[in-house]
Amino acid sequence: MRVAFLGLGIMGRPMAANLVKAGHEVTVWNRTPKDVPGAVTAPTPAEAAKEKDAVWICVSDTKAVQGVLFGPNGAAEGLSSGTVVVDSSTISPSASLLFMEGLQEKGCEFLDAPVTGSKIAAENGTLIFMIGGAPHNIERVEPLLRAMGQKVIHMGDNGKGLSAKLAQNMNIVFIYEGLCESLTLAKKLGVPPEKMFQLIEASMIRSGVAEYKKPFILNQDYSPNFPLKLMHKDMHLMMDAAKENGVDLPGLIKIDEIYEEAVKAGLEEMDYAATITLLEERAGVRLKTKP
Ligand code: NAP
Repeated sequence: MRVAFLGLGIMGRPMAANLVKAGHEVTVWNRTPKDVPGAVTAPTPAEAAKEKDAVWICVSDTKAVQGVLFGPNGAAEGLSSGTVVVDSSTISPSASLLFMEGLQEKGCEFLDAPVTGSKIAAENGTLIFMIGGAPHNIERVEPLLRAMGQKVIHMGDNGKGLSAKLAQNMNIVFIYEGLCESLTLAKKLGVPPEKMFQLIEASMIRSGVAEYKKPFILNQDYSPNFPLKLMHKDMHLMMDAAKENGVDLPGLIKIDEIYEEAVKAGLEEMDYAATITLLEERAGVRLKTKP
């Protein structure tokens, strides 16, 4: 398929590389010039979007998607009628519906297709897509989904992929916070994190989040797989959606205090896993000394 990929960050670059690997004709664009071996690099989203079967987006936030689509030299200027636009960024579900309307006016189709699996799954082509939109549009981009992911779950109409993504990431926030608090308490009581992971893995507490983050915690490596500022952005999307719909999220509001503190401490660009360092500081322990 002829596909444009807009946004070559931690997720977008390996996703685009997997499209190239699967034999698709790929054109890429990134705000800060970057390339992907085997893909053509376009100077603007408008140029990239010309004469494509699909235009895929993966940028930071709602404002970035708006700019990439409808800003000066945005993709909307180059799109042909009939192109399917797929957005894998995690953004506001209500804003995404407005973007869909703008694209429909140009005769284009739209899917919200956020992902879960983080950097490692983006690199391995094993992402999980949760999609909002018409099933026939999902079928049209199925070869692309297959090149980047291992599973596609149709969540419902447009916007429902993003709604599911926010609820899904809420699980990650809670599971990770629970893991960090339990590891910190255990260490303070004299049980090292390796022993705790052994116990967690053998019991019903085991989780993908613990499995993914274990080597990073044990190596004290908080380089970004999922930047803290993006998880914090997602938490605010969750709280906004909850407010708009009359849902109370008292636990999330409490955890947000840790993220606010992390931002003040300058940890924004690190992985969200770095929030554990604040708990260590408060408790006066280090889970591990840095190798
Ligand atoms: P990232 O590494 O920080 O990359 C962000 C991308 O967005 C970069 O290409 C950046 O361009 C671009 N961008 C930011 N602001 C822009 C703007 N105003 N206009 C145009 N482009 C802009 O982030 P990521 O981890 O790839 O995440 C991308 C999206 O996927 C986010 O919505 C995130 O929440 C979601 N997501 C991430 C993960 C994960 O584990 N990392 C997992 C699931 C979903 P520059 O290079 O020029 O800065």
